[in-house]
Amino acid sequence: TGFEYAPAPESRAVVDIASSYGLFVGGEFVDPADGASFKTVNPATGERLSDVAEAGAADVDAAVRAARRAYTQVWGPMSGAERGKYLFRIARILQERAREFAVLETLDNGKPIKESRDVDIPLAAAHFFYHAGWADKLEYAGLTTGARPAPLGVIGQVIPWNFPLLMLAWKIAPALATGNTVVLKPAETTPLTALLFAQVCQQADLPAGVVNIVTGAGATGQALTEHPDVDKIAFTGSTDVGKQIARTIAGTRKRLTLELGGKGANIVYDDAAIDQAVEGIVSGIYFNQGHVCCAGSRLLVQESVADDVVRRLQRRLGTLRVGDPMDKNTDVGAINSAEQLARITALVEAGEAEGATRWSAPCELPDRGYWFAPTIFTDVSQAHRVAQEEIFGPVLSVLTFRTPAEAVAKANNTPYGLSAGIWSDKGSRVLWTADRLRAGVVWANSFNKFDPTSPFGGYKESGYGREAGRHGLEAYVAAGSED
Ligand code: NAD
Repeated sequence: TGFEYAPAPESRAVVDIASSYGLFVGGEFVDPADGASFKTVNPATGERLSDVAEAGAADVDAAVRAARRAYTQVWGPMSGAERGKYLFRIARILQERAREFAVLETLDNGKPIKESRDVDIPLAAAHFFYHAGWADKLEYAGLTTGARPAPLGVIGQVIPWNFPLLMLAWKIAPALATGNTVVLKPAETTPLTALLFAQVCQQADLPAGVVNIVTGAGATGQALTEHPDVDKIAFTGSTDVGKQIARTIAGTRKRLTLELGGKGANIVYDDAAIDQAVEGIVSGIYFNQGHVCCAGSRLLVQESVADDVVRRLQRRLGTLRVGDPMDKNTDVGAINSAEQLARITALVEAGEAEGATRWSAPCELPDRGYWFAPTIFTDVSQAHRVAQEEIFGPVLSVLTFRTPAEAVAKANNTPYGLSAGIWSDKGSRVLWTADRLRAGVVWANSFNKFDPTSPFGGYKESGYGREAGRHGLEAYVAAGSED
């Protein structure tokens, strides 16, 4: 990814965490109207990192007004080339401050430093670079048939905690490139990199009000989705909350895109390169502790190689290092919150109660903070909850199949349709399978590969709308005028 990183011996020295943060509204950090706040903790230790302002409806209203003002007075009328310069500037600052962002992301989220360092932060910068390049080319891109694409106005964006800065980049970069202004609400357990990003906006001299950050829990997100002067809501999070937002928005002028949950199938045929497939299965479900919407949380393996694959998988899991996320050798970090740990534990218990066989990697877990050992379920049937419901943790459910048709039928047999992987030596088999999968993203002989040029999004209950690539821009423009 082209930048240097050397982990510091004392992590906290790298990044300056304030003891409290205000809201970022109209280019300034401000106190919330009623003075409410919540604390954000390091999930690897349970220790408080900072107190963060909790935005109420009045604060959300102030942020939407600031965004509207910036849209009508500055950002909307600005040329694409000019907007692109700001996006390039933000991208470069993200690179320059990458180490700070990586450490802060790991402290607030619990993910291994090597992931925030090598994946989250470089990809976030890449999204700003990519969209900076679009800003002055949109009029010629044929985005909307024959018409000049026009921005929508003020965009309300609500994001989850699993890739805090990266999800922010997925949301903010295309919205700004297309001439919209935003009010973004980060997840309540991971607000800190969004607040550091607010400082980046100041450093880049981004005009006041183009980006506003309102921190808080679900109620803050709800105030944003209910606000009458928001033109579009872009939401990434759980399917339940996505449905609730769709109901809130129904009948209003607001547009909506939803990136929701998943239960991705990783399909391994008997002619696959098995060791390579095992690595792909491991990164497919244990990357980011399995807190990945497109995780390969179901392994569909051809019966003739199933025992061998599971045996190799167990051996490989025994070598994963689970523990201190700030250690650059750590493979699996902390679970993001006590609530998420409770959800994972409950679903794993349900799997055992329904008769699936549980195996957990033999590893010593730290005695404070939130942890879950990499786990595999075998003897799983399609009706089991662990085969149907998103666990959003380091838990893999293994199912077997005999024929390609059976693999496809089983892969498609969940309410979701976000991602899938296919492992086979035969190109024809890969294409035959990919054509029949109801999944927005299909990887062949790889998994969890992301790139700002590739559209990402779901089928069925995984949501609608695409992010990244040319398709992602379409979600932020209206047909506009013919002149
Ligand atoms: P969540 O739905 O609980 O929360 C997501 C965000 O919505 C948070 O910021 C939360 O505060 C906010 N929110 C909660 N209630 C709200 C309401 N009533 N109105 C408006 N906003 C509200 O999800 P989570 O637990 O933070 O994230 C995990 C989920 O996100 C998983 O299901 C995962 O699959 C999904 N996810 C999807 C993608 C994707 O691109 N498809 C990417 C990452 C995560």
